[in-house]
Amino acid sequence: MNNKFVRTVLGDISPEEMGVVDCHDHLIKNGGPEMSEHIDFLMIDIEAAKKELSLFVKAGGKTMVTMDPPNVGRDVSRMLEIANHFKGKAHIIMATGFHKAKFYDKYCSWLKTVDEDKIVEMMIAEIQEGMDIHSYNGPVVERVKAKAGIIKVGTSYGVIDPLEQKSIRIAAKTHIKTGCPILIHTQLGTMAYEVAIMLINLGVDASSIILSHLNKNPDKYYYKKICKLNVFIAFDGPDRVKYLPDSTLAENIKWLIDNGYQKQILLAMDAGRFYYQTSYSETKGFKTYGISYMLTHFVPLLKEIGVSQEQINDMLINNPQVALAFKKAK
Ligand SMILES: [Zn+2]
Repeated sequence: MNNKFVRTVLGDISPEEMGVVDCHDHLIKNGGPEMSEHIDFLMIDIEAAKKELSLFVKAGGKTMVTMDPPNVGRDVSRMLEIANHFKGKAHIIMATGFHKAKFYDKYCSWLKTVDEDKIVEMMIAEIQEGMDIHSYNGPVVERVKAKAGIIKVGTSYGVIDPLEQKSIRIAAKTHIKTGCPILIHTQLGTMAYEVAIMLINLGVDASSIILSHLNKNPDKYYYKKICKLNVFIAFDGPDRVKYLPDSTLAENIKWLIDNGYQKQILLAMDAGRFYYQTSYSETKGFKTYGISYMLTHFVPLLKEIGVSQEQINDMLINNPQVALAFKKAK
C-alpha cells in the first residue's frame, strides 16, 4: 500500500495528486523584516494573489509551495482564504521554520534566546497540530487546523551564521521527528553544498533536502558536486535577467540532465516581489511576466534546446513527489 503523503494546508494528499508543481513561490507577504531590503516585498492583495494563482493553473500548474516562514511574511489567514477558494483546483503547501540570520535580532529574537529543543517542539506543533495564525509573532499562540508541510531554513552569502546553524539543527531534529521535507534559502546559491552536508550529518534523509536559488550561482560543476549528495536542487528563477539569462539556466539544466541528474531537479519561479507577479503589477498599471512564465516561456525554451517532455515531467511532476513527500518519522 502506498501511504506516502504531502501535507497541504487543506489536508494530506497523495503525492500523485500534486500534478505540476512550483516548488518555491509566494502569493502573500505581509510585511516583516524583508521590507527593510525593499518595499516590493509587501504583497497583501488577496484578489491579485488569486488571479496570479489562476494564471498558473490556466498554464497547467496544480500545486504551489509557498515558502514564507513565520515572522518573515507568512500570513496564515490570507493564505487560507486563497487555498479555500481554489479547493479542488489547486493545492497550496505552507512553511514553518526560518529565513537567513539577517532577519532576526542577534541578541533578543526568540530564535536566539529560546532553547533549541523548545523551538523544535514549536516547529513540530506547526506540522502536526496546526500553524499559529499569528506566525509566532507575539505572546499569543492560536493554532488553526491547517498544518505546515515544509520546513524552511536560510543561509547567508558565503557564510553560515551561528543563528543559521541553530535553525539548521532545529530543522534537522524536526525532520527526524516528523519526516517533513526541508527547503533551504541559499544566498545567491552559495553554501549549498555545506548546508546539505550539515543536514545529512545531522540525520536528515538526503531526498528530503531541497536547495533553493542555485540558479543565481550558475556553476554547473558545483551543481554536479551537490547532486552527488542525492539531494534536490530547485532552480527557481527564469525571467531574472539581472542575475542571468534564461538560456544559461536552461543550458545548465540540460547539462545536468545529460550527466544523469534529471531525477534531482525541481523548477519554480520564486516570484516573491510585487513586480514579479502579473496580477500585482496590473493593480498599478504595469505589465510584467509572473508565475506562469515558468510554464508559458521557460518550458518551451527547455524543449527548444532539446529537453524532452519526459524529462520536463520529471522536473515538474515526478521529482516533487519524492522531494515533498513526508518520510517515516524516526
Ligand atoms: Zn522565496
